[in-house]
This record gives sequence, C-alpha cells and structure tokens, in this order.
Amino acid sequence: MTGRVEGKVALVTGAASGIGRGIAEKLAAEGAVVVVTDIQDPMGEEVVAGIKAAGGQAEYRRHDVTDEDAWIEVVGGIKARHGRLDILVNNAGIGIGGPTLEMKLSDWRRQMAINVDGVFLGVKHGIPLMRASGDGGSIVNISSVAGLKGSPNLSGYCATKGAVRLFTKSIALECAQAKDGIRVNSIHPGLIETPIWITVGNAINPGMNAMPDLDAMSAASVPLGVKGVPADIANGALWLCSDEARYVTGLELVIDGGLILR
Ligand code: NAP
Repeated sequence: MTGRVEGKVALVTGAASGIGRGIAEKLAAEGAVVVVTDIQDPMGEEVVAGIKAAGGQAEYRRHDVTDEDAWIEVVGGIKARHGRLDILVNNAGIGIGGPTLEMKLSDWRRQMAINVDGVFLGVKHGIPLMRASGDGGSIVNISSVAGLKGSPNLSGYCATKGAVRLFTKSIALECAQAKDGIRVNSIHPGLIETPIWITVGNAINPGMNAMPDLDAMSAASVPLGVKGVPADIANGALWLCSDEARYVTGLELVIDGGLILR
C-alpha cells in the first residue's frame, strides 16, 4: 500500500538517527512532507538526502527540543512554508542510567529536559498549528517499555518515559474535550537496535562503553527471541499517523516482541 499519509505535513524530532529516522523515512515513503529535526546536523541532512533520492519530500531543521524558542521557530517555519501541520512525532530522547544514588542532578535534569520537557513543548507549540490547519491531526509520543515497568539502573529514564505515557493520555483527553480532531497516542518500543544502546547498555553493564550484544540480550529476554529494528516502530507510527487510526486516541501501543509480558 502507498500514500497512506499522502499530502500530510509531518514533523519528526530526533529524526537524524535510529527510530526517528525510520519514522521519517516511512512517513515520506507514504506521501507525507516530512520536516526532519535533530541536533545532529550532518546526519539529519543525510536522512533528508536519502528521502529525496527515494522520491520523497523532506527538509532538515536544526532543533533542540529543550529550547522553547527553537520550537517557536521550527513550527513558525512550517506554518510559513507549508501552511499546516498534520503529524507530530515527539521522538527525540536520550538514555542516562547507572545506580540512582550515584546519579548527578544535572544528568537527571538533562534527561527530564529532553525526554519530558521536549514532549511538552512539542504539544504546546504543535497543537495550535494543527488546530489552525482544521483537519484534526495525529501526535505520537515515543515512550518505552521502560515507561510501563521499572528497571534497575534506569530509574531516571523510566521516570521520563512513565511521564510521557500519562502526559499523552491527558493531552488525548484535552484534545477530545476541545473536539479538535487531534488524536494523541504513545508508542512503547522494546529492544530496538539503535545507537541509544551504547549509553543504555553502559547503564546496565557499567564501564562497557560499547554497543551491547543485542542479539544475545534479545534471545535471553524477548519472547519472540529477536531484537527489533526502527522499521518495526515506524510501521506502528505510520498506522497511528494515518486516517486508518481515526478512532484511536490515548492508546499505548507496545511494540516489543513480547518483552513486557515477562
Ligand atoms: P538515537 O538513535 O540515539 O536517536 C535519538 C536522536 O535524538 C539522536 O539523533 C539524538 O542526538 C537526538 N537528540 C538528543 N537530544 C536531542 C535534543 N535535545 N533535541 C533534538 N534531538 C535530540 O536513539 P533511538 O533509540 O532512535 O531513540 C528514539 C526514541 O525512542 C527515544 O525517545 C528513546 O527513548 C526511544 N526508545 C528507544 C528504544 C530502543 O531500544 N532503541 C526503546 C524504547 C524507547 P544525540 O546522538 O546527539 O543524542
């Protein structure tokens, strides 16, 4: 099937790498105009070049999601260039772990700022343009299975992802109350192969500082026995962003090979 989000304008944060990149590429392949944002400029430009080479429409903007002025500029630019916003994927995130009693307050705050403040600012500045567009819209916030269950040495990360889960449901209700046609859902990925595992893996096995063996980890902990890839999350995001999910809001979509079941 093609054209599942044809003509829609999408903003995907943290889209220079990993899951965000996968979502941006998938939305573009299905007909959306995708605004790729990140703080990794060359990688972001590369994603856009790849999308264009494949016949899609995309543009890159530098955008630190913790910076409210940057949100105003990015959303203002989308309004000026495209006149509308239909899809917002709040994906940018980091994983800082380690024993909680040794965690620096500055690291706790940085993780909160990117993983939680960034989602709040996206909702705050994205919804007005979506409402002005007049056709409803879809917001997808990337949480984690770590937002559904606790994990030793990942308490701060779990706290941010749990916050995203309930923030999402609250905004879903605010939009429903406002009858603006905007649906707001969260996705909870499990063990997905991306660079974030270099820092998350280090939290689980302190001192490792390298990509952990995700195949071995998956074989041990994921019921389906294999790791996920960004396209697995992008497929779920595409569905939530398309009109096929017109009756879906406040959902927590778990895509994890069954990890949460254990
Ligand atoms: P990733 O490959 O590291 O991609 C995240 C991107 O966001 C990176 O380019 C990162 O840049 C960027 N970013 C960091 N801080 C930012 C900021 N302040 N403003 C804008 N962009 C920023 O990681 P990923 O695995 O794809 O993660 C994407 C989302 O999925 C995150 O919210 C993560 O928590 C969530 N998630 C991932 C997994 C998994 O197994 N991979 C599982 C559950 C949930 P830097 O490289 O400079 O940090």
